Amino acid sequence: MCGIVAYVGNKRVAPLLVEGLKRLEYRGYDSAGLAVVRPDGLKVSRSVGRVSVLDAAVKEAGDAFDAHLGIAHTRWATHGAATESNAHPHTGVARSGARIAVVHNGIIENYATLKKYLQDKGHQFTSETDTEVLAKLIAQLYEADDGGLECAVQAALREVNGAYAIAVVCDAEPHTLICARKGSP
Ligand code: GLU
Repeated sequence: MCGIVAYVGNKRVAPLLVEGLKRLEYRGYDSAGLAVVRPDGLKVSRSVGRVSVLDAAVKEAGDAFDAHLGIAHTRWATHGAATESNAHPHTGVARSGARIAVVHNGIIENYATLKKYLQDKGHQFTSETDTEVLAKLIAQLYEADDGGLECAVQAALREVNGAYAIAVVCDAEPHTLICARKGSP
């Protein structure tokens, strides 16, 4: 069962996210990752195996993960093997160029239909997960001038069948953290 940690506030986010993931390790997982939103854009790190591997990678990157908004995840694979490219967060790019990152616990049952729709719209997938469909769908529906991230997530979730807990950030909205849950612990 995977874990999700998310934070927005005054503190430095990366150490908080890693500490949160460590506290959730008892739930079991196969890979881990995090995304932070910085003034110069979204920064993502993902790794297979222990949270300590992710921790080391983030520390090694130094100031690159210095931020105040972020999401993190420990994955228990349901769609696709335990690889770095399948680890969360997954990302999508909106028409405006804004980048969106998603972590997800659960299963998107109609992901195959949605994936086909999004591929036809030009989105290129880099994982085997159901979750990446959600990231691309939110990006497809993102309109900076019409409700922004909150509305895009609401619209995307209306198209999704399944159980989920998600956390979402967007580099065009550096103070916004969106979380949603349906039928997922
Ligand atoms: N279905 C998603 C995946 O395979 C999420 C799994 C989880 O809950 O960790 O990536």
